Formats: sequence, C-alpha cells, structure tokens
Amino acid sequence: MNVIEQISINGEWVTPQGSELFDLFNPATGAVTGQLRLANEADALRAIVAAKAAFPAWSHTSKEERIAALTRMRTALARYQQPLLEAIVQEYGAPAARSSWMASYPVAVIDEAIKALQQFEFSTTIGQARMEMTPLGVAGLITPWNSDAGFICGKLAAALAAGCTAVIKPSEMSARQTQIVTQALHEAQLPPGVFNIVTGRGEVVGEVLSRHPDVAKISFTGSTTTGKAILRNAAESFKRVTLELGGKSPTIILDDADLAKAVPLAIQAGLINSGQACIAGTRILIPVSRKAECEAALALAVAAVKSGDPLDPATEVGPMVSEKQWQRVQSYIRLGQEEGARMLVGGEGRAGGGERGWSVRPTLFTEVNNQMRIAREEIFGPVLCVLTYQDDAEAVAIANDTDYGLSALVLGSDETRAKRVAGQILSGRVLVNTLHHEAAAPFGGFKHSGIGREMGRWGLAAFMEPKTIVSQKNAAR
Ligand code: NAD
Repeated sequence: MNVIEQISINGEWVTPQGSELFDLFNPATGAVTGQLRLANEADALRAIVAAKAAFPAWSHTSKEERIAALTRMRTALARYQQPLLEAIVQEYGAPAARSSWMASYPVAVIDEAIKALQQFEFSTTIGQARMEMTPLGVAGLITPWNSDAGFICGKLAAALAAGCTAVIKPSEMSARQTQIVTQALHEAQLPPGVFNIVTGRGEVVGEVLSRHPDVAKISFTGSTTTGKAILRNAAESFKRVTLELGGKSPTIILDDADLAKAVPLAIQAGLINSGQACIAGTRILIPVSRKAECEAALALAVAAVKSGDPLDPATEVGPMVSEKQWQRVQSYIRLGQEEGARMLVGGEGRAGGGERGWSVRPTLFTEVNNQMRIAREEIFGPVLCVLTYQDDAEAVAIANDTDYGLSALVLGSDETRAKRVAGQILSGRVLVNTLHHEAAAPFGGFKHSGIGREMGRWGLAAFMEPKTIVSQKNAAR
C-alpha cells in the first residue's frame, strides 16, 4: 500500500514524528488507496522554529528577489499540471473532463501574486509621514481539501511576496496533491525555512499554529465553524487573521431573464465542483410570475446532469469527497422532504443506483422558504433550493436574509437593472450574467463568510502592517 510518510521542514523532506496513519480513499469506489502518516504537535513546533529562523533574511529581500523566487515557483508548478490533475480526480473524485482548471489554477494564482507584487507600493509619503508596509512575520496557512494546490499556492505566494515566511497546514484529505505541490516547491529552490508543509489533523497541527505566539498571522480557508475556533485561539496572541469561510450563495433570476441563457448559468453556479464549493449558488430565487416556467427549465437542466464516474468525460458531478460528506448530503435530502419542500429532481442514494463509492443524485427542491434549514445551512453537495419572490425588493431581501455573504449571481436581460439589484446584495462578490472569475480583484466574504480579503494588492497587504515614520526630514519635504 502506498504510504505518504514525508512532510517538508526547513527545505527538506522529513518523516513526521507523529505516528498516526490516516486512510486515503478513492471517492469513486470508496476503496482505501493509501495512507498518510500524520504530523503531530512536535512537527508543527519544528516547522514554526524553521519559519521563524528564515524570517529575518526573507523579510529583507528586495522586490526583485521575491519576484525571481515566485517565478521559479511558478515554473516548477507548471511542470506538474498533469500529475496534479490525476491526483485531483483520484483523490476527490473531481470530474476529469471539467477539472483541468484546478490543475492550472496554482500557476494562475502565483502569476497574480507576481503582478500584484510588481505594482505594490511598499513605501509612500503621507503628509509629514513616511508609511512603510512591514511583513508580519511567520504566517500559518491552513487550507481545505477542495482545490488544495490552488489554496496552498495562492496563500504562499501572497505571504512570500509580502516578506513573510510560512508554515502550511493542508487538509489531510488531499495529501497526494500536497505531495506534488511540495515536490514542485522544493524544485523552486526557495531558501530553507521560508515555506514548511506540515500535514496533520486540524485539531492538532492547526491548533498549534492558531495558538502559537511566534505565528503572527493565520490565513485560513475552510468551514465557518473551524474559522470561529481559529479566531478564538488567535485572540490570545492578537494574531492578524484572514478567514475565507462558507457560503449559501443566492442566484437571482430576474423576471426579464432569457431562461435559455439564465438556467445553464444558474445550474453551473450551483453545481460547481460537484456542489462542494464555498461559492456554489445553492439558493435559486425565481419570480413568482414565472414560477412554473422556471421550475420546468431548472428541473430539465438538473435531470440532464450526469453524476457518477469522474473518469467518464460526460460526468459533470463527481462523487462526494468522503463517506461523511456523502452521509451529510443524504441527510439534507431527507431533511428537505421533512421540512415540506417539493423535490423536483434527484433524491437519496447513489447516482445510477450503484452500491459503491460516494456518488450522489443532483437534487432540486422547490417551494423552499428561506427559514428552512436546507435554505440556511451550507450542505456542500449538489442540492439546490428554489425560492420564489414577488418583486426585485423581495428578491434582494431574501438574498440578504442569510448569515453568509460570499458570492451571488444576478441573471437578467436588462443589464442596468441587474446591476442595480447586484448593488444591493451584501456579498463579497456579485456576478451579473457571468461566471467569470476576476482573479485580480479582492476575494472574500461579508458576515459569517469571513474576514479580510485575498488576491491582488489586498491579498498582499493582508500579510503586512503599515508602519508610520514621522520625522523632521519628512516634514521638510
Ligand atoms: P474544514 O474547516 O473542516 O477544514 C479546513 C482546514 O482546517 C483543514 O486543513 C482542517 O484540518 C483544518 N482544521 C480543522 N479543525 C481545525 C482547528 N480546530 N484549528 C485549526 N485548523 C483546523 O473545511 P473543509 O471540509 O476542509 O472544507 C470545506 C469548507 O471550506 C466549506 O465550509 C467551504 O465553504 C469552505 N471553503 C471556503 C472557501 C472560501 O474561499 N471562502 C473556499 C473553499 C472552501
């Protein structure tokens, strides 16, 4: 059996001191495909020491030196797109034909960090003061299993660009992808200690990072529950914290929408990454005046979605990442029926009626009201809710009646009106008639969807502290 037994500390592959073995699965079959030896507290502490030792030299590198290092990182990652894609499909069942973007995304986010760094003003004069953006220190980067490589590379590139060093705690469930990323990072010849990768349990390694006084910053992507725990732990040492958390994103289909265009976008937004995406548009708001027509078009589209074998080129929705997640999706499909929603498509059980693996039936509920748990809680699977509204004002009110605020989509023929509606939605990102991801723009959530922003100059600044120096010389200028 394939056992992953190495982590990366101070620029070297090392065997973790932790001895617990964690099973790795193929979600398509449910079979164990390997094991991971988990890092423990001692490994986390060692990584923090290495990152702390590397910080003084790295924080004094020039912009040009950092750009050169990030460019080496980018070149190395670009060589690993194919193995990364294979790991993505095998490890979390992403449909092969629709997941190549996940394998190229790490390169794209490093490119964005390089661009942001090239344009970043580290030092400016403000009145009589000189303001200098100062790197925070050791950054703890904690990432989820979905889009493992993209999150590791995005956070690391921003941290390094800012002059921080890093200890990365990836999800246990994406260990193969992490191995590939680590191999590429070693080939990029970054100075020892500037990045360290310690894969272990969240409540072990993640806890050490979020409590340790030598970690100045936590950048976390994951669930809202874990985000709250991190925020509490980080308070003791006043860590700077960026949290990218969950969502229950609304898609508003306006009453002038051309359903031939709107419905495919709504379904794509809802089922992105097999529904296992923070930004998934899982609440679809339709005008009551066009209820029957919208329901019929949405039901037809969901029924046509092929779910199952990730290696089948026709598959759009792959299996859930774990048995636990499969059970969770099943329980919400039951809950929707208990709560009185009407199921238009889907239901419990495996796609195609198979007996193995964690495939699910994409499910569409209508006659959902916004107080039902299926409309309020993040399910993290292909379960979509349809809610009706009377007019634009009510659509906005329902869209905003949520603890979350990560992403939203507005679909309508009159772009000006659609933008007016978009302007009233409380969400970090609102898309209008498009699913385009503008990677240079800030990304993050309102309310329980997070704190702070990633990407572009906002993402870089999140790893720095402004320092103001006021002197006679400044004053004389
Ligand atoms: P998770 O919160 O269970 O785990 C995320 C990471 O946190 C993992 O590495 C985990 O080991 C670690 N962790 C767990 N407990 C911890 C603790 N007490 N202290 C420190 N670290 C701990 O999330 P997941 O299941 O891996 O990912 C799915 C969740 O992530 C969903 O809620 C989804 O919405 C969210 N997500 C958000 C974004 C975004 O950009 N906003 C992107 C992707 C996923």
